[in-house]
Amino acid sequence: MNAPTSLVPQADLGASYRAHKDAIDAAVARVLASGWYILGQEGKAFEEEFGAWLSAGNGPSMQAIGCANGTDAIALVLRGLGIGPGCSVATVSHTAVATVAAIEMVGATPVLIDIDPKTFCMDMAEFLAVLESPPPGLPPIRAVIPVHIYGHACDLDAILGPCRAAGVAVIEDVAQAHGGRLHGRMLGTIGDAAAFSLYPTKNLGALGDAGITATPDAQLATRMGAIRQYGWHQRYISDVPGVNSRLDEMQAAILRVRLPLLDAGNARRRAVAAAYDAALADGPVAPPYRAPGVEHVFHQYVLRVPGREAVMERLRVQGVATAIHYPVPVHEQAAYRGRIATGPAACAETSRAATEVMSLPVFPEMTEAQVEQVCAALRTL
Ligand SMILES: *Cc1c(COP(=O)(O)O)cnc(C)c1O
Repeated sequence: MNAPTSLVPQADLGASYRAHKDAIDAAVARVLASGWYILGQEGKAFEEEFGAWLSAGNGPSMQAIGCANGTDAIALVLRGLGIGPGCSVATVSHTAVATVAAIEMVGATPVLIDIDPKTFCMDMAEFLAVLESPPPGLPPIRAVIPVHIYGHACDLDAILGPCRAAGVAVIEDVAQAHGGRLHGRMLGTIGDAAAFSLYPTKNLGALGDAGITATPDAQLATRMGAIRQYGWHQRYISDVPGVNSRLDEMQAAILRVRLPLLDAGNARRRAVAAAYDAALADGPVAPPYRAPGVEHVFHQYVLRVPGREAVMERLRVQGVATAIHYPVPVHEQAAYRGRIATGPAACAETSRAATEVMSLPVFPEMTEAQVEQVCAALRTL
């Protein structure tokens, strides 16, 4: 019999805090002592550091605006671009429901495009077909939100030209792909604007809710900065209608500790992924596909397995936790079913993926023993 094994969790947020506890505790103490808790020095410094990190190397100069969470970050970009009632926004159904919720939050109409079954990202050919001839009765399409799902870049190059020509904004949902690249370009710097979630489980995560937007367009950044706080351009004076979606100082200070660790964390995720690839080689289950030019950051390491429940159970008895991202596509959820437009493919690949995907454990603090335990289990598939 095998020696008893302990459970390898699918994610471990406590481990990520403990790995840098002293620096995080010091950052929190600094904020507590400062007497300033919302939209202050820490938030401003984090926005500058995040913008500089995004712009580093060959990228455009990016301006970043912090906000309360990733859903708000998407809504803030849409509001900043003047997109609301009377506008359609294309995105995918294979995503966190937040992407679609944000579109409806601003009063716009979502239209859900199917995915490419290999990358799980938006099927750009279908999107371009919908742009060419939108479903009848739909308001004009004003923006598209491709989601870099699981940390794999969408094929943005296929749509940038046609979107520019049609006056359609390209908004990257980078909630799962902080630090990922496409042909060397940092994700979040390729479209007109980007939205990042900084939820604790993300590749860059706070210890509470947080989000950030980024854009090379200085005027859009200024508008978003006003909208996130009641539309104020100065204290108590609102030029435009706004909302309240501020980044608090405690989370900003924690994020300033974690931002410099992000690239190493992503490298560790890639190393874990490479070990899983090797363990799966020549077996019945294929490792995740990477499109040419994509530098994946493995927010999730996702396998596609028909009859996944049996495989998940076999891994579970060997002490390997798994998860499903996501079990029910947005267009099939009770909140959306029957009232949200889809493209001509009616999200058929999305529905099929939802029955087959499963996510293995992947987080930067995984020990070698944990990685080896998962690999040993994968070799038995
Ligand atoms: C997490 C996530 C969001 C939403 O972020 P919150 O911070 O939870 O509001 C949006 N889009 C995607 C793809 C996500 O994974």
